[in-house]
Amino acid sequence: MSEVQKNNPNVDSTPPQIIPVENPATPGLSDQPTLIIGAGPAGLTAGYLLAKQGLPVIVFEAENQVGGIAKTEVRDGPGGQYRFDLGGHRFFTKVKEVDDLWHEIMREEFLKRPRMSRIYWNKKFLDYPLRGPDVIKKLGPVELTRATLSYFWAQIKPKGREDTFEQWVSNRFGKRLFDLFFRSYTEKVWGVPTSEIRAEWAAQRIKGLSFFSAAKAAFFGNKGNIKTLIGEFHYPRFGPGQMWEQMTEDIENLGGQVLMSTPVEKLEMTDGRVRKLHAGGQVYEPNQVISSLPLRNVVGMADPHPSPEVVAAAKGLRYRDFLTVSLVLDGQDLFPDNWIYIHEPDVMVGRIQNFRSWSPWMVPDPDKACVGLEYFCFAGDELWETDDEELVQLAMRELEQLRLAKPEMLEFGFATRVPKAYPMYDMDYADRIKAIRGWLDGIENLQQVGRNGLHRYNNSDHSMLTAMRAVDNLVKGTDHDIWAVNAESVYHEEEKQDQQQPYIVTPETRAQEKPLHE
Ligand SMILES: Cc1cc2nc3c(=O)[nH]c(=O)nc-3n(C[C@H](O)[C@H](O)[C@H](O)COP(=O)(O)OP(=O)(O)OC[C@H]3O[C@@H](n4cnc5c(N)ncnc54)[C@H](O)[C@@H]3O)c2cc1C
Repeated sequence: MSEVQKNNPNVDSTPPQIIPVENPATPGLSDQPTLIIGAGPAGLTAGYLLAKQGLPVIVFEAENQVGGIAKTEVRDGPGGQYRFDLGGHRFFTKVKEVDDLWHEIMREEFLKRPRMSRIYWNKKFLDYPLRGPDVIKKLGPVELTRATLSYFWAQIKPKGREDTFEQWVSNRFGKRLFDLFFRSYTEKVWGVPTSEIRAEWAAQRIKGLSFFSAAKAAFFGNKGNIKTLIGEFHYPRFGPGQMWEQMTEDIENLGGQVLMSTPVEKLEMTDGRVRKLHAGGQVYEPNQVISSLPLRNVVGMADPHPSPEVVAAAKGLRYRDFLTVSLVLDGQDLFPDNWIYIHEPDVMVGRIQNFRSWSPWMVPDPDKACVGLEYFCFAGDELWETDDEELVQLAMRELEQLRLAKPEMLEFGFATRVPKAYPMYDMDYADRIKAIRGWLDGIENLQQVGRNGLHRYNNSDHSMLTAMRAVDNLVKGTDHDIWAVNAESVYHEEEKQDQQQPYIVTPETRAQEKPLHE
């Protein structure tokens, strides 16, 4: 029984039952464990579904905690245990199979939560999506006049060229509105000035939106045109990590193994098969392998190395990284929203999460507030390398600058770095993936799944669906193309699944200089 279940007598703790599969399509599946790399949402899904059918599995996890990017950090503090979600994970999917699995794992622990998020600008909260009367009230007469004049100026004298995000948006909305609502958040997310982001990328994201259509929507509503907004989502009582911890426990109850702190280091391959997998000082001889390793790493761990073309492709893959500074503060919540977007250019923080609004059970003391300040960065840059204590101080300074909290409210805080948080789409990434995929297609007992496993900007439902399809391929003998799996989970209004890449010149990142297997 998990800690959570022990603390909550209402939770149904009956272990899951094995429903054995007769004659799995892949020979040897019942005799030799399928080896699964990574105990994030994708790897655990594969492990759970195989174990539930009575098939042996071993899941290898490099860290001492499950959940990958979607884990929950836990710290002791005043009044009990505080829980912190790295990024705020909404559970929402259009795929029934995934939804059913979430409910099967979480049972009564899967809460339905309301969503509230606003833009924080000039020390004011603006409703999101923007509402006309609210914008007018918050902008005030002076700023409103400047924005309107700037809009008309852009119509009379538009910039001739529209090569950049900045030019494209300024021509349509005016320079003033661009500066107020488009520049700072975009620059924080992508790490370059908006003059270095392509106009096509703006056109794709802000497609069909003009000053007048935005104003119309703000005053008269959207009439269902913004399909990506969701007002409610599911969330485990103790944060997303509870889902992955419960899945781990279920796998073990079903007879499978999840080996923590056991990084996979090498994959020996001959004649188009993985013959040996090295992990935690042991060597395993796999029948089948399901891997959620980032593509860069799987190339780096292959022995012998694939062709120089494939190695070069892997070296070129880039990631945008991310760090969260989690703080427990004395006093009431700083705002009622689940999270707020920070459209202030003078601070580095991009978004602030308010964990009590995600789930009240994450914050044990009603007189403490619990927030996560999100900073987008590149692994190895100045922010990433900043000492943890200094990051906590930075976060407190920024909260004070934003007039949301005072330094003396700090109870405790810590920083969590999330490498490879966002696989980056750059000019050549599709060609690179094609080269790596060509090589992987020739390895018959290895299937790549998950977010970085496919270098796709996936939510957890999509990551899990790829694992489900990989399991079907092994057990049912289907021939699903994992790369073609589409969960259509484009509900992140601020993080649509871009087909285009944003950069004019893609930044070279420090992480690229590291050996490929790291
Ligand atoms: C800021 C942010 C917000 C997000 N919000 C949402 C949201 O609201 N809703 C949603 O559904 N999704 C959201 N996501 C996406 C979600 O986090 C991912 O889709 C999901 O975590 C991907 O699962 P995965 O198993 O593919 O990969 P990961 O979560 O990256 O897990 C991979 C696992 O493999 C392990 N591993 C790596 N190398 C090795 C090795 N050599 N040996 C063994 N193990 C190894 C890692 O330690 C990790 O545990 C968000 C992501 C981010 C960054």
